[in-house]
Amino acid sequence: MNKLNLTDDILLSVEKPARYIGNEVNMIEKDIANIDIRFALCFPDVYEIGMSHLGLQILYDFLNKREDTYVERVFSPWVDLDKILREKNHPLFALESQDPLKGFDFLGFTLQYEMSYTNILNILDLSHIPLYSKDRSEEDPIICAGGPCAYNPEPLAEFIDFFYIGEGEEALNDLLDQYKAHKNNGGTKAEFLEKLLDIEGVYVPKFYDVSYHEDGTIKAFIPNHQNAKSKIKKRIVIDVNELPFPQKPIVPYIQTVHDRVVLELFRGCIRGCRFCQAGMIYRPLREKNVEDLKNQAKTLIRNTGHDEISLVSLSSNDYSELKDLTYYLIDELDEEGVNISLPSLRIDEFSLDVMSKVQDVRKSSLTFAPEAGTQRLRDVINKGITEEDIIKGSSDAFSGGWNRVKLYFMLGLPTETLEDVEGIATLGQDIVEEYYKMPKEKRTQRLQIIISTSFFVPKPFTPFQWFPQDDYETFMEKQSFLNKKINKKNIKYNSHDAKTSRLEGVIARGDRKVSKVLYEAFKQGCKFDSWSEHFEYSKWEKAFELADVDMNFYTTRARDKDEIFPWDFIDTEVSKDFLYREYTRALESKVTPNCRLGCANCGLKELGGGVCYEG
Ligand code: SF4
Repeated sequence: MNKLNLTDDILLSVEKPARYIGNEVNMIEKDIANIDIRFALCFPDVYEIGMSHLGLQILYDFLNKREDTYVERVFSPWVDLDKILREKNHPLFALESQDPLKGFDFLGFTLQYEMSYTNILNILDLSHIPLYSKDRSEEDPIICAGGPCAYNPEPLAEFIDFFYIGEGEEALNDLLDQYKAHKNNGGTKAEFLEKLLDIEGVYVPKFYDVSYHEDGTIKAFIPNHQNAKSKIKKRIVIDVNELPFPQKPIVPYIQTVHDRVVLELFRGCIRGCRFCQAGMIYRPLREKNVEDLKNQAKTLIRNTGHDEISLVSLSSNDYSELKDLTYYLIDELDEEGVNISLPSLRIDEFSLDVMSKVQDVRKSSLTFAPEAGTQRLRDVINKGITEEDIIKGSSDAFSGGWNRVKLYFMLGLPTETLEDVEGIATLGQDIVEEYYKMPKEKRTQRLQIIISTSFFVPKPFTPFQWFPQDDYETFMEKQSFLNKKINKKNIKYNSHDAKTSRLEGVIARGDRKVSKVLYEAFKQGCKFDSWSEHFEYSKWEKAFELADVDMNFYTTRARDKDEIFPWDFIDTEVSKDFLYREYTRALESKVTPNCRLGCANCGLKELGGGVCYEG
């Protein structure tokens, strides 16, 4: 076991010291003396959230298979330790070796949500690494980033040396091979960034210049290096069955958000919901072999001691072997006391049967995400769920003994009217009425319906990337209107404040000018912005003022068809023409069938695999 970086005094003075000591079950240990490349995988949020993230466990395992590379983990220190590190000028360190990050070759950030961006700057600062790429030297690590938010890298372009667009398993080995050879030949880090221009999927911001029109929109995005490509193509693994899976994921000593084994059923999604970025950027759907998944489940339970297994993917119902896999897991694992959790199941006969086998019906709740209150608006967003599905599913579930239903919606969706907002309350009431249609003797428990709303944020690479976002007042008026319409006798309403959604709106479709806002927000002391107890909107307002950036330019402005977006140089192989076709179909409330029912010619077929070639 390595010597701990923090003294006992410090560890005993902070909440949950186990966040910082490493040495968990299945942590990988290596002898630094035999290592060529040191890579810190950074999750810019607290340990319990980062350790629940499947992607982190996958990359940790995948890259540590290399004998020449040691991949370690870093999370944002919680505010108590943050304060101590600053007071003592004590640099941030990696969990495995407990060494400061400044001596690493790479710091790789995973970009999962926009409101974690100030934490990225904070990690750099706590590591005594200059925030801006231009200020860093050969003594500093190369700072890179990937993950879903990297599909619009521009708000972080000033801070990150290179972005990787796509699935890490596809090109990171090649990238590290090249780095090792380059380093052994005496090459510098600065020169390596030039070498990266030859690797598909890698974007190095400093080799591109952006010019703007007078109205602030982009005029041109031009490479300034002869080897810089005009388009950066995403990299994905076509045959996901070739991928290794982490056989021994790390098991934390403290409770995390998800303490369970996770089985990834497939990558991608067939659905094409028009608000969903993940559904577009991870296309096409690529399934894993069911027999492999059965073996993985048994191995993972054996190697972790977890008593829960979760089947995850963007829409787990769409896994073609779901019945076979689920019934197998119930038969095999039930005796061992392992619980199975099935997120995002559609409510049909099969799922009710499965749920009644794996859950305590009286305690569990059913979850629907209709997203919109009327069929018209559900057609606009291409959400393949009808009122009938929801009412019939609820009715069947009530007959099966359930009495708790959770419903998730978004406010502010494109073309939304007050009638659509009221439709949310009406749908909730219809479900209540469905419950009371049951004979009295069957209604043994109190009905509980929970309606939660969030606010719509238009995202890059979706058909809604052209749409304006509602302003703050409109968001809050809609929320208050809905609150009045909901019958509180049987329905509980969870509402939110729209301020973070507005900021997410700026960063999600931001350009390079937003870097300055992030910097000023960090300087004002913003961090852990996705935690309501730490979010301080007034500091963000100040940051916009100091950076001289208008929030409304990014949020409430409608975009022209031909506007150059900050992310247009990234090629997801889903064409902009397709996205615009979907935008116009949305305006006409026209539904587009899912990829299994018919190909909508999104452009991905050229990749040569996945659902596009099934049957
Ligand atoms: S090419 Fe067709 S089938 Fe393949 S992801 Fe695109 S729409 Fe779906």
